[in-house]
Amino acid sequence: MCKKFDLVVIGAGPGGYVAAIKAAKAGMSVAVVESIRAGGTCLNRGCISAKAMIHASSLYEEMNSEAGLVGLKAENVSFDYGKIVEYKQKTTDELVAGIEGLLEGNGVARFNGKGSLEKDGSVTVKLKAADEEGNEVVSLEAGKVLLATGSVPALIPVPGIDLKGVVTSDGVFALSEMPESIVIIGGGVIGVEFATVYANLGAKVTVIEALPRILQNMDKEISQNLKMIFKKKGIDVHTGAAVKSVEQGGEGLLVNYEEREKPLQATGQLVICAAGRKPNIDGLFGEGVEIGMDGKFIAVNDRFETSIPDVYAIGDIINGTQLAHAASGYGLCAVDYMNGKEPELKINSIPGCVYTDPEIAQVGMTEAEAKEAGISTISGKFIMSANGKSLITHEERGFVKIVADEADHRILGAQMMCARATDMIAEFTTAIANDMIVEQLLAGVRPHPTYNEGIAEALEDCIGESTHTMPRRKRR
Ligand code: NAD
Repeated sequence: MCKKFDLVVIGAGPGGYVAAIKAAKAGMSVAVVESIRAGGTCLNRGCISAKAMIHASSLYEEMNSEAGLVGLKAENVSFDYGKIVEYKQKTTDELVAGIEGLLEGNGVARFNGKGSLEKDGSVTVKLKAADEEGNEVVSLEAGKVLLATGSVPALIPVPGIDLKGVVTSDGVFALSEMPESIVIIGGGVIGVEFATVYANLGAKVTVIEALPRILQNMDKEISQNLKMIFKKKGIDVHTGAAVKSVEQGGEGLLVNYEEREKPLQATGQLVICAAGRKPNIDGLFGEGVEIGMDGKFIAVNDRFETSIPDVYAIGDIINGTQLAHAASGYGLCAVDYMNGKEPELKINSIPGCVYTDPEIAQVGMTEAEAKEAGISTISGKFIMSANGKSLITHEERGFVKIVADEADHRILGAQMMCARATDMIAEFTTAIANDMIVEQLLAGVRPHPTYNEGIAEALEDCIGESTHTMPRRKRR
């Protein structure tokens, strides 16, 4: 059986499904092939699932640590881990149903099965269940193909990594019981978010990170601050510590690592390997298909075109930013390019967000990166302990930092570690995407009391002194 479409999208994650809807709205006939469930990693085993767990665990932690501070009595607060997992699943299911409804509402054809690109440009789908006509395999003729199959967790190649009790992020979301002690391999985004969840719920958490600091790709002050906050929470953080092997011990799993050339060991009931992800391209290509690669990624040009004519690739399978919103952005741009349009969306300023407590977000350049690029900068900083709303909600120490070009005050980047940083960073994404200068972003009045007032203060600090900071001599 053969069906014909203007566009066949393989993968219904935040890259693929967003692109499919946009293409359908642009008048293309579109099919989406998905082997698991709409929503991809983001909804089913990533962003949404993790943030639901973070929300539940933070609420529990806040009830215990803060209720008394605001005059509430919350004695014997407890939790049922199974119910937290149920709530996570319900949230995910609702969103997945919403996406499925949107695909249907936009007339996008759905094929549930594993898709592969063939040499003649068609897409073969091995269906999960036979269709109404009894076909187990269908062939889709495609004007254009968009590859959006995302990524899967990568395991580090050390002995014992395949032992029972060692899981990746996929396995963590499938747990039905709360582990009492956990060793997390990797202090990247996934590692620190899971550390937050389980420490909030009272587990003994150890984080082992090979690089000199956790969240190595973020601003240095953010990494240092988070390490301090983690220690205060009772999380045992080891940096410059590479995991060498995992073995079964009497009391749980033993993780052997080397810190400053010293062999050390951490014990956990559960080990989470959060040491990066790799492109999900197994079985994506039929016999004889040759596609240009960029290391382990599929190579694309700046229009998301692969080396095969009319075949595009986006999301975690290309060498770009591995984030859900980046994949969606790339997908929207790819569909514009397919239709001969220049995208309006600017993908040069993709924000990175980490849902720890406090939240972390950054976009554009750090001051160190700007200096490395030879740009003379001005900068501003505001410590959020002087922000009214942060005081009301008893936030941890936090800050907003901004870096701008000294020559024209164009905003180059911002780094934030404070409540709602992941929502507020969009102010700076918009500013950078529109080449705004400090004075333009400062022009609007921000409501009081809000965390956003901290942004205005940091902007003021770039070009003078902020209102709610004691006068001081500038150190620039
Ligand atoms: P990552 O690359 O961010 O971090 C992995 C860390 O593991 C690195 O710091 C690395 O040095 C460390 N590591 C590797 N081998 C090690 C070893 N043998 N011993 C000790 N440490 C070791 O990867 P991740 O945290 O797994 O996340 C994967 C991707 O998913 C990232 O691109 C991330 O941005 C994305 N993600 C984003 C969010 C978010 O936006 N909030 C949440 C989850 C995941």
